Amino acid sequence: MNERQLQFANGQRIPYTLKVSAKRRTIGLRVDGAGLTVHIPKRVTQKSVEILLQDKSDWILKKLEELQQRALPFAWQDGITLQYLGQGIQLSLHQDIKTRAVEFDNARLYLAFPKTDDSAAVHRKVAQWYAKQARIDFSRRIELLSTKLGVDAPPLFLSGAKTRWGSCNSRGEIRLNWRLIQAPPHIIHYVVAHELAHLKEMNHSAKFWAWVGKLCPDYVAVRQELKAMSAQLHLI
Ligand SMILES: [Zn+2]
Repeated sequence: MNERQLQFANGQRIPYTLKVSAKRRTIGLRVDGAGLTVHIPKRVTQKSVEILLQDKSDWILKKLEELQQRALPFAWQDGITLQYLGQGIQLSLHQDIKTRAVEFDNARLYLAFPKTDDSAAVHRKVAQWYAKQARIDFSRRIELLSTKLGVDAPPLFLSGAKTRWGSCNSRGEIRLNWRLIQAPPHIIHYVVAHELAHLKEMNHSAKFWAWVGKLCPDYVAVRQELKAMSAQLHLI
């Protein structure tokens, strides 16, 4: 398996997985809970894969959007690929009546359960693990970017909102969606920068965007990118 990124002409980027198969004769695309997967025969160049993906960009975006609308129940099975900081990680479920261990090592999230087919329990455990990593990662970014902005680091609350990635209230508290921890670091950086900029300007005026631009100069492209991957990040 091979994690790649597709970049469209407008700067929008979409992660995808490349799978090479000796048996295939044609290139196949699949969009599902794991995002976009491209199946290719052996000896196909990266260049021709990219040309095809650019050609199919409308179809790919439409499929990703449809997925979000249908809100398919996610299949919590051993071996599925999850996203963590923009990288594919493998979920590894192990039956164990004694321990409920959670370990992350070498792009593998290892969970031990008495019953590995208990999807609700698996979901809960994975969400807890994500939330824990999210708190550590987001706090560090808030610390760093607050210093750059010259404000006191605000208190962080994690949210699980289905519709928004972050918010900042009049008490100066910041809420960030734990699902963002699935996204690449530069996306998280943008959302943190956006919410912190609200400590300077409680609106979306030109002044506000100027503060965002100080922390995240390419915010226009990054916003587009976040929009494009929102469906995928909300699958879990
Ligand atoms: Zn805002």
